[in-house]
Amino acid sequence: DTHRETLGFQTEVRQLLDLMIHSLYSNKEIFLRELISNGSDAADKLRFEALTDDALFEGDSDLKIGVRYDRKARTVTVTDNGIGMSRAEVIEHIGTIAKSGTREFLAALSGDRAKDARLIGQFGVGFYSAFIVADRVTLVTRRAGLGPEHGIRWESDGKGEYTVETVERRQRGTEITLHLKEGEDEFLDGHRLRAVVRKYSDHIPIPIVMASESGKGEDEVVNRASALWARPKNEIKPEEYEEFYKHVAHDFEPPLAHVHSRVEGRQEYISLLYVPRHAPFDLWERDRRHGVKLYVRRVFIMDDAEQLLPNYLRFVRGVIDSNDLPLNVSREILQRSRDIDAIRAGSVKKTLDLLTELAERDKEKYATFWKEFGRVLKEGIIEDPGNREAIAKLLRFASTHADNGSEDVSLADYAARMKPGQEKIYYITADSLPAARHSPHLEIFRQKGVEVLLLHDRIDEWLMTHLTEFEKKPLVSVAKGDLDLGGLEDADERKRHEEAAVAHKELVERIKRALGERVKDVRVTHRLTNSPACLVVDQWDVSVNLGRLLKAAGQ
Ligand code: ADP
Ligand code: MG
Repeated sequence: DTHRETLGFQTEVRQLLDLMIHSLYSNKEIFLRELISNGSDAADKLRFEALTDDALFEGDSDLKIGVRYDRKARTVTVTDNGIGMSRAEVIEHIGTIAKSGTREFLAALSGDRAKDARLIGQFGVGFYSAFIVADRVTLVTRRAGLGPEHGIRWESDGKGEYTVETVERRQRGTEITLHLKEGEDEFLDGHRLRAVVRKYSDHIPIPIVMASESGKGEDEVVNRASALWARPKNEIKPEEYEEFYKHVAHDFEPPLAHVHSRVEGRQEYISLLYVPRHAPFDLWERDRRHGVKLYVRRVFIMDDAEQLLPNYLRFVRGVIDSNDLPLNVSREILQRSRDIDAIRAGSVKKTLDLLTELAERDKEKYATFWKEFGRVLKEGIIEDPGNREAIAKLLRFASTHADNGSEDVSLADYAARMKPGQEKIYYITADSLPAARHSPHLEIFRQKGVEVLLLHDRIDEWLMTHLTEFEKKPLVSVAKGDLDLGGLEDADERKRHEEAAVAHKELVERIKRALGERVKDVRVTHRLTNSPACLVVDQWDVSVNLGRLLKAAGQ
């Protein structure tokens, strides 16, 4: 199928393009960073595929990216000799955004440009940033391994349609030409382009080549061209860590924190892990991508290697570069590799340490983290019993202490405020914060000035079935079982409760008869100070709230 066809961008792409051009204009030079980042990804992919099929190199394994400009034609061109794209791939990757949830996400955008600009970075829209400075973009490409007759030429003015046609192309890889808009001539300048490359793309591990300005037609490498993570920590500047993050995470915003370490011993590997500032919009989708990349001795092996980190740390981005794994490692091998188990355990520890340190060092940043990823981290209590204690310390809850609804109370904060004689950590679960706060179960605790954690997240109920103690103190629901206030009650109070139970025996029997099968038991309680009655479930029974959730889920 070699014919020329004109296709329309997906509606979502059109919306994104529009938004992108307007919101990123003040930072327009980033188009170069994005195109170079794609060229580098394409080189990684080729190197990886060539591990099992050397012929894909077509005799040229010297992977690089080129940047050039033509003052007369008013064009800037970025080339790579990476994997390239077939016709189907061009149509699929350039012109559609295949991620589920995109439409909903776009509909929810605020129209606040600064904010929206940050968010659109998550989409894998880097390529479209070319349209910030260009009014026509031409992409010519050939997939490695296909014959020269399978070249593809794609072109668009970014207004809604694009053309694709099959052309002859001897060179493997991709060439992208930007026909600059009126007024964008600043990019027709070697010094300017070099400065932009060095600023954003110095960390790209393959050479970025430009013609020297001497006019003698020699090429020179503009970037440092070495793997950033393999360099000593003290030689890497904060900006370099930041730009590298944007490349690996496909994010337009700087990260919240990072941890870079070189592990030696039985397993040798380098890890550079980042916590993003914002949750990707597909954090809860099944087909989410871009997690931690696996390298073996600097060779890219795979994206989003799920085996490297557990599910509850799926928000972490970065690279792990092993010295020991074989180059031909596959996902199947990873699944049952002891080496990977060791790397994974080490990386979990590094990540949890990073979060612990962030919580101690920078409360504000930690609050941002918690807001974006707290719900995901909670899954760790259930998924990773071995690290339960460390994860428990990272949890934050609302409580009756400040009673302002903000989730900033740690279990350690709670423990430090426990009353003399208090042996347990009390909490209540409900399906909303107001419901938790106004529960009659809290009456006695408020009266005695005993703090209660207010849990109102969907996952909390499930969480608490796995988190039964913290630093030897049992966590108990104030809405379950017999309320045993232990040392919080004195002998007098206890005596009064016993007397009340005897005095109301008749009444209790009558209520029991009236309610019959609908209840397990009726008791006189000292839980309440204002309300006449409340529902309680037995210690080991499904709570009222979970019961409701299960019912809603059709269980
Ligand atoms: P992202 O890089 O986050 O996936 P982009 O908009 O930058 O998003 O690129 C979209 C997709 O287009 C890439 O994932 C890739 O499949 C394809 N692509 C872009 N540029 C190239 C290139 N130079 N070589 C091969 N494929 C490319
Ligand atoms: Mg990209």
